[in-house]
Amino acid sequence: MTVAAYEARMYQRLGLQPDAGRPAFEAAQSAHLAATVAQARALSPFYRRRADWPDAPFTGIADLPRLPFTTPDDLTRADPPLVAVSGGDVARIVTLPTSGTSGPPKRVQFAAEDLEATADYFHHGMAVFTSPGDRVAIAFAADRPASIGDGLAVALRRLGAIPLQIATAHDPQSLVVALRREAANIVAGPPVSLLAAARSSAADDGPPIRLKAVLVSSDHAAPSLKRAIAAAWHCEVYEHWGMTETGYGGAVDCAAHAGLHLREADLFVEVIDPATGEPLPPGREGEIVFTTLQPRATPLIRYRTGDRGCLVEGDCSCGSRLRRLAGLSGRIGDAAIVGDIRLTQAAIDDAVFAVDGVTDLDATLIAGSPATLSLRIAAPPRYRIPVLGVAVRSAVAAVPQWAPAVAAGSLRVVVTLADASLLQRTAKRRLRHEEDPCANSG
Ligand SMILES: [Zn+2]
Repeated sequence: MTVAAYEARMYQRLGLQPDAGRPAFEAAQSAHLAATVAQARALSPFYRRRADWPDAPFTGIADLPRLPFTTPDDLTRADPPLVAVSGGDVARIVTLPTSGTSGPPKRVQFAAEDLEATADYFHHGMAVFTSPGDRVAIAFAADRPASIGDGLAVALRRLGAIPLQIATAHDPQSLVVALRREAANIVAGPPVSLLAAARSSAADDGPPIRLKAVLVSSDHAAPSLKRAIAAAWHCEVYEHWGMTETGYGGAVDCAAHAGLHLREADLFVEVIDPATGEPLPPGREGEIVFTTLQPRATPLIRYRTGDRGCLVEGDCSCGSRLRRLAGLSGRIGDAAIVGDIRLTQAAIDDAVFAVDGVTDLDATLIAGSPATLSLRIAAPPRYRIPVLGVAVRSAVAAVPQWAPAVAAGSLRVVVTLADASLLQRTAKRRLRHEEDPCANSG
């Protein structure tokens, strides 16, 4: 099993033999954590000057809850800078928009060693389901940071696979054409792009696309979406979690699909109650927070990701004891409350992507009485007929938590059908909120 090699690499990166055992692994994590904290306090002006830093010495994992959080805002400020290396040691600076604001962008800086660590992680992560000789299509849109595709290509060559860069942007048909032309047997890309390609290819009567594995990454992947891709392409669907701040890689699925195995040599992950900041035990959903464990140009201590999920501990049926992330269900704070019901993009995705033919959706909740959930649905031409709208409305109305509100008329669901190209977007998909257009009309 290749998860064993992935796990062995984690042990090696912490300076351990692969058979050192879990207690030794956790002790090494704790020592690396103490080193990260010492490095950040010595070399990062931001961490050195923090007024909210505790006086007591930091000795390891048990002391972590005493330390203050780092937030995305801390990556937008230039003074004091968070970076822990001099400018000459910075190999790449990535600027990212701060979600939900028009403020300054986040800046994440990478040293050459950080980029090498990313390539090494991608190598061992992809090897969980990739073998030498595999033809792997990389379908991240060209407007994503180039480093994702570049880092993946480097990693795939290391494991003897053949990377195929396909800059598809948002057009599912061009991805389908490229998969057939290149005879790819694995494809990695954003979840909705791959869903659209899978359902488009299943509907176009063209030659079959023979894939053994699909990797979805860079946005929330609803369970129904993963099932739909697996059904359309008759393949295994693996999920990856990570973000620029984690050094791109973060956690990867195994064939058991019982949680994503964390990049535990590089990241110590906590899940906290987003309201109180208190750490939550395994199995409880909250906000994912991580601390970097290896020297980094941008050391991050208790960084609040804004992503929702929970930790899973103990043996996985694949044989690995690496801790896992599960319950990945979008962003903290993206929920809209209507009366006593809660709507999230993740839950809407899971309901609507279960409807055959749907390749993308765009959701807006319009406040008012009744509240209106406006769904623009993309589908291949043969599916773009009124019965699809009926099926989507029924799927939303059948969600147990929402059914009473739909039945009582306090939540109206309006569906419009569109070409996939009308839903083009570059940012992550979010449920939008609009005020009631009639509220101020007198
Ligand atoms: Zn596993």
